[in-house]
Amino acid sequence: MEINLKGKHALVTGSTSGIGLGIAIELARNGCDIVLSGFGDAVAINDLQTRLRNDYGVRAIHVDADVANPQQCRALVARGLAEFGTLDILVNNAGIQHVAPLEEFGEEKWDAILAINLSAAFHLSAAALPGMRRTGYGRVVNIASVHGLVASKFKAAYVAAKHGLIGLTKVTALETAGQGITCNAICPGWVLTPLVEAQIEDRMRREGLDRRAAEHLLLSEKQPSGQFATPGQIGALAVFLCSDAAANITGASLPVDGGWTAQ
Ligand code: NAD
Repeated sequence: MEINLKGKHALVTGSTSGIGLGIAIELARNGCDIVLSGFGDAVAINDLQTRLRNDYGVRAIHVDADVANPQQCRALVARGLAEFGTLDILVNNAGIQHVAPLEEFGEEKWDAILAINLSAAFHLSAAALPGMRRTGYGRVVNIASVHGLVASKFKAAYVAAKHGLIGLTKVTALETAGQGITCNAICPGWVLTPLVEAQIEDRMRREGLDRRAAEHLLLSEKQPSGQFATPGQIGALAVFLCSDAAANITGASLPVDGGWTAQ
C-alpha cells in the first residue's frame, strides 16, 4: 500500500529496536522524515540514519532522550520541532517489560514501567499537540498491547500501564476530535523482538525447553494464528492510520494479535 507522507515529520520513540524500528522504516518508505529515539550502540544508530536517508531519500536524525524523565520527553519534542519545523506524527512506542508475581514485583520495576510505558506518552503528547493544532493535521499512534485489553498473570505493571495507555488514547481522541488530529492505539500480540526474546529465553531456562518448544508454547497458549506478528505489519498499520483514509478512525484500539483477544 502506497501512502504519500512526503513533507510530514514523525517522532517515533523506541525506534532503535523491534516494533519502533519497523514503524520508522515503514513511515520512511512512504516519504516521512523521522526523528529516531531510543537507546543502543552509537555506530548502529548512525548506520540506521544513513540507511533511512539512502534507501528512502528522507531526513533522519537521532535524539538522545530517556523517556522515563518528563523533562527529557518535552525536550525531545522541542528538538524535533527545532530540526524539522513541525512534528505531524507522534508514535509513542518505547516500552519495557518485567515478569514477576505481584508481591515480588518490586517498586522500582513498577515505577519504571509506568513511567516509560504510560507517563511518557502523556508528556510527549502534551508537548506535541499544540503544533499539530497549529497546522490542522496530526496523528498520535500509541503502541499499547493486547495487554491493554486483557490481562496475563505476572505482568501487573505492564497490564496496568497498557490499560492506562488505552484510556489516554480515548481522552486524546476526544480532545482533538474535529481538529484534523486522530489518536489511536495499536494492540500487538506476540511480536518477535528483544522484549519477547527475553521471555522466550526465560522459559527455556525455567522449563528446560529448547527454543522451538519455548516459542511454540508461547504462541499456542495465547495466539491462535500460531505465528508471531512482525514489526513491518505493525508499521504498515501505523502508516495507514496516518493516511487521509483513516481520518475518521480515532479513539480506537486495534489488535494485531492473530486472534488472541477474539477468544
Ligand atoms: P524492544 O525492546 O525491541 O524495543 C524497545 C525500544 O524502547 C528500544 O528502542 C529501547 O531503546 C526503547 N526504550 C526503552 N526504555 C527507554 C527509555 N527509558 N527511554 C527511551 N527509550 C527507551 O521492544 P519491542 O518489543 O519493540 O516493544 C516496543 C513497544 O511495543 C513497547 O511499548 C511494547 O510494550 C509494545 N509491544 C510489544 C509486543 C511484542 O510482542 N514485542 C507486544 C505488544 C506490545
